[in-house]
Amino acid sequence: MQLFTIFGNPVSHSKSPLMHNISFKALGYSACYTRYQLEDGTQLKKKFLELNFKGANITVPHKEHAFNACDELDEFAHKVGAVNTIVNRGGKLYGYNTDAPGFLRAISEFKDIKTVLFLGAGGTAQSTSIILRDAGYKVDILNRSEKRLERFKKEGFSTYTFDTFSISNQYDLVVNMTSAGLEDNSYPCPVLFLEKMIPKAKACVDVIYGKETPFLKMVKEYNLPSKDGSDMLLYQGIIAFEHFTEGKFNFEEIKEKMQQAFIL
Ligand code: NDP
Repeated sequence: MQLFTIFGNPVSHSKSPLMHNISFKALGYSACYTRYQLEDGTQLKKKFLELNFKGANITVPHKEHAFNACDELDEFAHKVGAVNTIVNRGGKLYGYNTDAPGFLRAISEFKDIKTVLFLGAGGTAQSTSIILRDAGYKVDILNRSEKRLERFKKEGFSTYTFDTFSISNQYDLVVNMTSAGLEDNSYPCPVLFLEKMIPKAKACVDVIYGKETPFLKMVKEYNLPSKDGSDMLLYQGIIAFEHFTEGKFNFEEIKEKMQQAFIL
């Protein structure tokens, strides 16, 4: 039986063990998926090999450590510098980033989206902004503070803080990429910005899942097409599962099984 895990700190809240174990069982694949609370990210490779894992997901705060632990990186993971999926092939660790393709797939289900505004400039915004731009979307970044905008500027994105943003800007898709609303009731940017932008948008997404944030609540008041972060979570999991099982199952086949984890 193959063994998989998720490394993170904290990791007790993660839905990944449920998502993967349900799918392994339903697809008749002999494997078990555990969770591993890892304090020191520099120990990731050592623990991975000691415990003989076939594969792992990596969550906050170890995605950069995971990047450094790999012997081989796929092109996109190399480009964004963050790995959330590792597969062991003959003792060599292969690294992938499935968060960003998961997000791209989730937003591709909205029609006629060309321009996108990200509220937030953290690690998730970084990898997803690059994949969206590669896929032909125009992405602008609005963040509460200046510091995290530097790397986006270097990548050539248009970036704004609350002081420099013009509320007459229009976007087809507005995305909450911050943690605002996760453990409090705050909005990701001044409410006035949202009141101007949301009615003109074609759709809105919140990457937070498992609760309705003030941002998503406001979007629903305007009756706009919207999603929370569940599809992103599901889709990154499906893409990781494809790597774990070396392409034995296709996306739709896995989706049918893995989505059961969201109704339990
Ligand atoms: P980071 O810690 O790297 O970045 C956090 C960002 O949120 C920063 O831009 C920060 O702004 C901003 N922020 C935090 N609090 C507030 C606030 N009260 N008001 C305005 N801005 C705020 O986080 P990540 O990029 O790793 O994660 C971002 C979100 O994405 C989280 O909510 C996480 O749960 C979610 N996520 C969802 C996934 C899914 O599968 N659905 C996968 C991965 C992440 P500043 O720079 O000013 O501090």
